[in-house]
Amino acid sequence: MQQGQFLAISRQSPERFASPMSFSLSNGTVVDILAEGIIGFSPAQAGNKDIVLSCGVHGNETAPIEICDELVKNVLTGELTLAHRTLFLFGNLPAMDIGKRFVEENMNRLFSGAHSEGEGLVNQERRRAKQLEDAVAAFYTALPVSSNSPERERIHYDLHTAIRASKNEKFAVYPYLHGLPHSKEQIAFMGACGVKTILLSDAPTTTFSYFSSHDFGAHSFTVELGKVRPFGENDMRRFADAKEMLTQLISQHAITLPEFVEEDFDIYRIHQTINRTQEDFALHFGDDTPNFTDYKKGTLLASETGARYEAQADGEAIVFPNAKVAIGQRALLTVIPTTLDE
Ligand SMILES: [Zn+2]
Repeated sequence: MQQGQFLAISRQSPERFASPMSFSLSNGTVVDILAEGIIGFSPAQAGNKDIVLSCGVHGNETAPIEICDELVKNVLTGELTLAHRTLFLFGNLPAMDIGKRFVEENMNRLFSGAHSEGEGLVNQERRRAKQLEDAVAAFYTALPVSSNSPERERIHYDLHTAIRASKNEKFAVYPYLHGLPHSKEQIAFMGACGVKTILLSDAPTTTFSYFSSHDFGAHSFTVELGKVRPFGENDMRRFADAKEMLTQLISQHAITLPEFVEEDFDIYRIHQTINRTQEDFALHFGDDTPNFTDYKKGTLLASETGARYEAQADGEAIVFPNAKVAIGQRALLTVIPTTLDE
């Protein structure tokens, strides 16, 4: 631990974190380890932000895991002093070990209680999703909110990398806000991270970012930082802006952001959510088609027995296609350009 090897110990000897532990660093930061892969920090002079950074909810999405591992290391060794309470979550440790997205079930469909529905907490992804939710809830509610204390700002960035290449390499999914306004400041922060494409959700989901947004009013995003590569094979220069901004976010009381200019961003809203309902579900574009490739109205995008799915508008683009999902799960999203205020 003195060398900051929290993730390595979590992966190799998770039993060492079987019960929660707490200790202080020499700079006064209190460290709370709730379980393997779950570590929170409370600096002696904590600012008004409560920040959650999660990674590895998909085990093979390594670049964000490497970024968070390094940030945790730097905090533990005293190299980086935090300005705000920060919780780091390394999501799916067993999936990391086998270099797969998940072991039994896609964890990013198991939040907002979905882990306990149906057959219940029957696999490690379901139990872990619940444990991550509990950790987030405990972290956000640890400080009593009193009328004379300044507003606390809750933030959660769930960091991912996409399976396939993308025309817009980095993009973020903004969870459905149930009519509340989108935060221009938050989108400006995404822009400073190099994330210039924002996808606005139009409905509740069982993703991690929707959970913290909906249940705790956190400024929350699923952030896709590029394409999946194995550990050690990431060109970390491609992630330099994101890492720099995340470092500033947690270590500076206030950060200076460029003014939000909507024209600098590609903003999309979800148009169609296409689920696989039959064995013969097929996509009608190549396996290597990048995310955000757009089509003319009427183009056949996918089909299965009893259904044909076409682009319904010119410029409708595909995101997250995956014909191999389990029956009943989402196989494709389509999006169309929009503006923030629409
Ligand atoms: Zn992912």
